[in-house]
Amino acid sequence: MTDIAPHGLHHVTAIASDPQRNVDFYTQVLGLRLVKQTVNFDAPDTYHLYYGDHTGAPSTLLTFFPWRAVPPGRNGAGLTTATAFSIPPESLGWWQRRLAELSVDADSPTSRDGEEVLRLRDPDGLVLDLIASPGDGRSGWDGAAGVPAEHAVRGLHSVTMSEAQLEPTQRLLTELLSMQPAGEAGTRSRFTMTGPDGGTVVDLEADRSGRGLQAGGTVHHIAFRAPDQATQARWREQLVEAGLRVTEIIDRRYFTSIYFREPGGVLLEIATDQPGFTVDEPLLELGQRLKLPPWLEPDRDQIAAALPPIRLDHTGPHERPAPAKQPEAEV
Ligand code: ZN
Repeated sequence: MTDIAPHGLHHVTAIASDPQRNVDFYTQVLGLRLVKQTVNFDAPDTYHLYYGDHTGAPSTLLTFFPWRAVPPGRNGAGLTTATAFSIPPESLGWWQRRLAELSVDADSPTSRDGEEVLRLRDPDGLVLDLIASPGDGRSGWDGAAGVPAEHAVRGLHSVTMSEAQLEPTQRLLTELLSMQPAGEAGTRSRFTMTGPDGGTVVDLEADRSGRGLQAGGTVHHIAFRAPDQATQARWREQLVEAGLRVTEIIDRRYFTSIYFREPGGVLLEIATDQPGFTVDEPLLELGQRLKLPPWLEPDRDQIAAALPPIRLDHTGPHERPAPAKQPEAEV
């Protein structure tokens, strides 16, 4: 037995292609705040873009590696095949209308295991669910143009992991990560964590369609919350004792992290709540310029020159104002 009990999801990281299209979609369509523009610390020729609520609080974060030439991936076993956000129950119709108006690839809302779910896909095909969630106390980001605070996305709700074999993953979630089984429906089983915020649900789905292909429009890894570094270090020892191959504790500037794979192949991370995104820029200015960790700062010019510029005031394809009427030609 272990005392590893993550406090919910910390973030989900996915793979995109074009960074500008990614920024436009998540800030202007979903109304999340871009809380950090940095690079993939392991491959600094690529952005790492973080979206979340006004502070980028753990449990609200979806992040991307935009690799411009990446081919599209394919969901399947061994991948996190859906990332769900929580919205207020009375906002479901509003979001359905908004997505239709903006020509977003979205399904009609469906009822799944007692929850109303609005499924959509981002411009790279990443599967997102908006789930009507009563009683979510998080406020989301209230600064997005076009998304009134009352309808704002509150934060992560859950992830769906697809597995060819459920049992080994189930055992890891319950026996090692102390998650509670919370019911089964059809091919899905639910596991819950106890946390101070939302994003405390993992759904496992049986998938016999073959292994997925991790590339554009798929999830790269999911991260769970550790309250502090001492706890993270203790959890790491317990994971190693349980026979898992776990990385050393890695400094990710905004949190520290360890990584390991669950038996089905999904890359898992445990990340600390601290220090958070205000460690290198003020709250009001989050996400507006490229931030680098101290060890990459000496190479800033070279790194910045290799990245495609991102415009934050860019009017995306979804909300481009109608062209001004051409004056009638003189006759
Ligand atoms: Zn991560």
